[in-house]
Amino acid sequence: MPYKTLSFQFETLTRAKREMLHQAMEAYSDGLESVLRGLLERVEAEPAKTKNGYLKMMDRKILAPLNEKGLEPFKDAIKLDAAMILTTYAGRRRRGKTVRYPSVRVYDEELDALVRRESFSKKEYGAALAKLRRLHPLFFCRYDRGRDYSLLRDTKSGRIYAKLYLYNRQNAILVHPERGRELCYLPQETETLQSGKKQRYLLLPLRIGPWQERHLEDIRQGRAIPKSAELSEENGRFALHIRLWYEPAVPLACPNTLGVSRGIRDMLAYAVLDARGQTIEEGTLRREDPQRRSRLHALSGEVLRLAERYRCRILMANLVTRSDALSALAAPGMRVGEYNALIQMIAQKAPAYGLEAPVIVSGNGIFSRCPACQEMRRASVFQGNFICVKCGYSHALETLGAVNLAGALKRYGKKKIPVTVRQEQGRIVFCNPRWGIDFTCEETAEALDHFLRYAAEYVKAMAGGRNAREKSFIKQLEGRELSQCFQYIEV
Ligand SMILES: [Zn+2]
Repeated sequence: MPYKTLSFQFETLTRAKREMLHQAMEAYSDGLESVLRGLLERVEAEPAKTKNGYLKMMDRKILAPLNEKGLEPFKDAIKLDAAMILTTYAGRRRRGKTVRYPSVRVYDEELDALVRRESFSKKEYGAALAKLRRLHPLFFCRYDRGRDYSLLRDTKSGRIYAKLYLYNRQNAILVHPERGRELCYLPQETETLQSGKKQRYLLLPLRIGPWQERHLEDIRQGRAIPKSAELSEENGRFALHIRLWYEPAVPLACPNTLGVSRGIRDMLAYAVLDARGQTIEEGTLRREDPQRRSRLHALSGEVLRLAERYRCRILMANLVTRSDALSALAAPGMRVGEYNALIQMIAQKAPAYGLEAPVIVSGNGIFSRCPACQEMRRASVFQGNFICVKCGYSHALETLGAVNLAGALKRYGKKKIPVTVRQEQGRIVFCNPRWGIDFTCEETAEALDHFLRYAAEYVKAMAGGRNAREKSFIKQLEGRELSQCFQYIEV
């Protein structure tokens, strides 16, 4: 997940400023509509397949209206915007969907003409009405001091401003900054605004909450890089949405494990174990958001923050081909489909937290295995507690699955891969036919190091593997110190 969107509301804008934004968005929408209409015949006759194909179609004639309307500052943005809209349109058409040629705006006279026709469908009228004088979001291609948009911090007040380039030279406006006002571009570089000069941009104060503050700090620290942005309007309120590129973080060292299973009373249960298998924390998570997507967003964020805080590898259950058999014991707090979707979401977001995607282990028996003695028999459950029939260990059923997931690497870790070692005319041969391990080197004191280096390469090559054998091999070694993985048998 290297991209994140950071949205800002503006601080209360004067009527004049609101009017200026409105006009800019109106001009942008008109420009975009004119390019789309200009391309209609060509696209309908021979649609391109890629964004670049559409960009190439936009010749001088198509773009001429943009210069006439003073839309030079938006030219690149309009071209890209139109190309993206048309690529989506052509893609849907190729897949056999009935879609109308895209349009972002409808004008008064066109709606008049529509209703004066002898017949028109309700749908047609509705679609036209929705686009009547609609403002299409204004796209800024790049973060740049001298064009498009950028962010500035007032060094005295600490306020954050968006600098939006909206005008060409002829339409530039006069700016009167306060005396000695010093603004600093994010991430750095200071600039003192000059008074009484015509400028091609507007400077607008942004409303900053904790969420925005956190991401602005990421920009200042160079962890996030602002890319394109969009200015949108809804019910007279404007907002700026900035796409932030996050460098995939350097992976954290993760000595601990976090198991996340389905819960019973709550949606999810989790357990954090340290490297020795001792419990650091156990708990449950729940979200009430009625929308599944926002629920999953919130839950995935909570899981990742837990893993970040305790420096954990995340372990979750494979419930696609295996069952956790939870429904035989209690009513699960989450459906299997939602749990699987959560795994996907966590995997997508993990790089932004400097974490690896969850390790998926078998969900088989996680609610019937005793974490103390590893016995996996039908245990007795009494008042929500699991009681081991072999050793008597008892644990809340709610978090038992999570504990067993968190301990899964350790369980795998106990298994060693046998490797036979034999001497052959001054050479030494390491071999395991089942896993295809076959390595020969000179019989020296460093032979074992050579073998481990070979094994590391071998594991790397296997990691991309798709078949069950390779996957199972990698699973056994996942998260383990390679030197601890083999049992050497001299023959
Ligand atoms: Zn037991």
